[in-house]
Amino acid sequence: MDGPVVTADGRPGAADKRKSEGPVELGVPPHRPTAEFPRHLETLYARFPFARSVADDPISVVRPLATDPRRAEVAGIFAATLAIGNTTAIRGAIGRLAAAVDGDVGRLVDPGRAPERTRRLRSFRHRWIRGDQLNFLADRLTEFYAKEPTLENAFLAGWQSDGFASGIDRLARVLRGPDPPAAPLPPRGYAALFPSPLAAGASPAKRLTLFVRWMVRDRYPDLGIWRRVPTGELRIPLDQHVHWIAYHLGLTGRRSRSWSAVEEVSEALRRIDPIDPTKFDFVLCHTGVSGDCPKRRDLSVCGPCSVRPDCRLWRGRGSAS
Ligand code: SF4
Repeated sequence: MDGPVVTADGRPGAADKRKSEGPVELGVPPHRPTAEFPRHLETLYARFPFARSVADDPISVVRPLATDPRRAEVAGIFAATLAIGNTTAIRGAIGRLAAAVDGDVGRLVDPGRAPERTRRLRSFRHRWIRGDQLNFLADRLTEFYAKEPTLENAFLAGWQSDGFASGIDRLARVLRGPDPPAAPLPPRGYAALFPSPLAAGASPAKRLTLFVRWMVRDRYPDLGIWRRVPTGELRIPLDQHVHWIAYHLGLTGRRSRSWSAVEEVSEALRRIDPIDPTKFDFVLCHTGVSGDCPKRRDLSVCGPCSVRPDCRLWRGRGSAS
C-alpha cells in the first residue's frame, strides 16, 4: 500500500526524501475540483465495493479482534507497520508474523511467548523490515502494557496538549522507546519505523495515522475501540495511492508527501464531511490499489469514474466531458 518514494506526478521522489515540507507548484495555477466535487466523491464512496477491498486490506487481520481492545491494538500496530508494498505481500507478511505466535498476532505481547517468538522471528523479512525490529516492537509493547491499559492514553496525552500531530508524536515516542536509547539497544533502523510529524522532515507518519484511523472510526471497516478521540479530528493516512489521487483531484497542491500535505488533504475532506473526513480514505486508497484508477487517461476505465470531472489528469488533456 506504500512503496518507493515517488511524487504525485510520477517523478522519482528526490524532492521528498522525507525532509521536505512538500513543494507547492510555483507559477502554476492551482488545480481545483469542480463545485460538484463533494457530490462526486460521495458517489464514489457510495458505489465502492468495500467487501472486495476489505478482504485485501491489512485491516482484515485486525477486525476479528475488535471485541478484545488490547489484542486489536497489538494486531493493528503490527499490521500498520507492515503495510508497505502490495496487499498480497502485506497479507503474506502478516501471516508469517502470526505464525511466530501460533496464528494470533494479538498474542505477540504475551510475555510467556517471548523466547519462542524471538527465535521464530529471526529470519523474518518484509521489504526493509526485519524480524529483530518486530521482535523489539513486541518487547516495547509488552513493557508499555505492563504499566498502561491502552495506547489510546499515550495518543490522548499528546493530542490533548497540542493537537493531532502531537498525539502521533507521543505514540511514536512510546513505540521507539527512550531517547537516548537505553539497554537493550534497539536494532538498526528500528526508530525509523515510527517517524514523527513534529520531527525534522515533517513525516506524513502514514503508519501511525492509519493505525489511529482504525482505532477511532466507528464505521465500517474501522473498529471504533478508542472512544475519546472525535472522528472529525482524524487526519488522512497519506500513502502513495491517496496522495496521487488527492493531488490529481486538487485536494493538495503539494507534489510530495509531508505532514503539510496531510493537513491540506484532511482539511479539504473536512469541508465535505466535518464529522467523518477520513471516511473517504479507504476508498481513495483502494481506488488506486485495486486498479479502478489506472493513473493515466484511459477512457475505458475513466469513463465511469465518479470524480472524472474533477480529475486533473483527465481535464489536463482538455477533453473532459
Ligand atoms: S478520471 Fe481516471 S485517472 Fe482520474 S481519478 Fe478517475 S480513474 Fe483515475
